[in-house]
Amino acid sequence: MKKIISVSTLLALSFLAACDDTPKQMAPVQVDTNAELNAHTDEFKKEIIKVTDGVYVAIGFGLANSILLEGDDGVVIVDTMESNETARAVKAAFAEITQKPVKGIVFTHNHADHIFGSGVFAEGADPKVFAHESTDFYIDRVVNVIRPAIYTRAMRQFGSHLPPGGRINDGIGPFLGKVDGADGISLKRPTDTFKTNLKTEVAGIKMELIHAPGETADQLFVWLPEKKVLLPGDNFYKAFPNLYAIRGTSYRDVLQWAKSIDLMRELKPEFLVPSHTRPLTGADKIDGILTDYRDAIQFVHDQTVRGINLDLGPDEIVERVKLPAHLAKSPYLREFYGMVDWSVRSVFTGYLGWFSGNAAELHPLSRSEHAKRLALLASNGTPLLEATQQALEAKDYQWAAELADNLILVNDDVQQAKLLKAQALKALAETQISANGRNYYLTRSYELDGSLVIPPIDTSKNPREILHSLPMENIMASLPVNLKAEDALDENIIVGFNFPDIDENYFIHLRRGVAEVQKRKSTSADISVTVNSQVWKEVLAQMRNPATAYASGDIEVDGSVIDLVSFLKLFQPEK
Ligand SMILES: [Zn+2]
Repeated sequence: MKKIISVSTLLALSFLAACDDTPKQMAPVQVDTNAELNAHTDEFKKEIIKVTDGVYVAIGFGLANSILLEGDDGVVIVDTMESNETARAVKAAFAEITQKPVKGIVFTHNHADHIFGSGVFAEGADPKVFAHESTDFYIDRVVNVIRPAIYTRAMRQFGSHLPPGGRINDGIGPFLGKVDGADGISLKRPTDTFKTNLKTEVAGIKMELIHAPGETADQLFVWLPEKKVLLPGDNFYKAFPNLYAIRGTSYRDVLQWAKSIDLMRELKPEFLVPSHTRPLTGADKIDGILTDYRDAIQFVHDQTVRGINLDLGPDEIVERVKLPAHLAKSPYLREFYGMVDWSVRSVFTGYLGWFSGNAAELHPLSRSEHAKRLALLASNGTPLLEATQQALEAKDYQWAAELADNLILVNDDVQQAKLLKAQALKALAETQISANGRNYYLTRSYELDGSLVIPPIDTSKNPREILHSLPMENIMASLPVNLKAEDALDENIIVGFNFPDIDENYFIHLRRGVAEVQKRKSTSADISVTVNSQVWKEVLAQMRNPATAYASGDIEVDGSVIDLVSFLKLFQPEK
């Protein structure tokens, strides 16, 4: 039998030592609360829900749900709560349904709210514990170099130390259970792991576990083919997904997240039982909701990347990327947990790192210097333009660049403001020992004063053999990030692309501002394009004129050519 780690060891490890203990000296707070967030609390009404025969979910006992699968001579528990205390409460409630022994445990991923009550469910049994092969690694990473920071920030995110009345809920659960109490936490380590998928049978329950990276890299979903029940872990819940966690997280691969939801859609589940928030029933309803969910994720990704390729910084992209109305108002995408603007910043950082691209932000003034100068400016009542000019005269170039940035945003004469900034950047270039820094400042200064334009990358000049060697999958996948979403909000069209020479088929379903690309033939395409793969690559690289290729019969189109042309125009990279 695998050793169950002692409570005391885990107490030492625990990074989510959350507590409901409210410091007694703190008075109850009266705050204005968001009515919608308040109403969302109903989602976490504490109860056991029977989803279908042999499938039950415990909701409202702690941050996450725990799911009971009843087999012939035993049960499987999917996700085991965050603490022994919450796990015991769930276990007692499940015991009212069945006393069969726990023969299997599934961790949908490594997060504390899914694993740290596992010892309680394993007591008196010797269950197999299923997880992705990387889950152990992530569990061990609980003890890492940034643990103190993550702990403190998590306590803030979950409102665990707020005075009474301070916290409404935790967005995906009522509260994070107390794990540093006398009862602590426990962990039964994974015993049965896998890489991409695992078909197994436990207590007569046929299960498929499928690796589905998203909210975490080790995420899996559970598919019960006989019951058409799908347990998506934390890749789906009734809130905008946490594409970034403000408690602090490394980059979450959001495109992979959308793809993982696509895997779920393909199975056409009749029941969806997430590990947070309430279960859903009905294949069509679930398909619609999952489609919206993956579209919202892809939209944020694609439109952020589009902004990146337009050389915009994160602040500017945040202002541009707003979910299409039908997604924004979906009850499954309200921003109770993740938020669109945080996600945009995360995608930006995931691709480009911390630097916004604005040269004035390469070496910003310290916060205290900035504050001092701002205070002086305010007390003197100096107009911004004058202050920028004075800073330049005083050779205070960084301050001048920062002031000029503001001037560009508010001044009627943007050109004048840009010239002032260019002057500051030119001077800053000469302060740099880093060749990278010097080049960047100088180039930007010439761009700002209009004396230099970096020509856009010309893909038509790429050697044909390199272009031809690129996989078609890459080329098709690169289209959605160019989509002019604002011009495609009313579109709903499927265009199939068939490449007989490489025996590959794709379709793009352009659906209200999002272009879903799938590598397979669509049975319901509005337009079908059949073309040699090399010809198509040259068309997309603008080496070949599509009209000429069509006229000469190199491109066959089944459907409206006019519609195809307007469709393709939506994906043309902006200059
Ligand atoms: Zn969770």
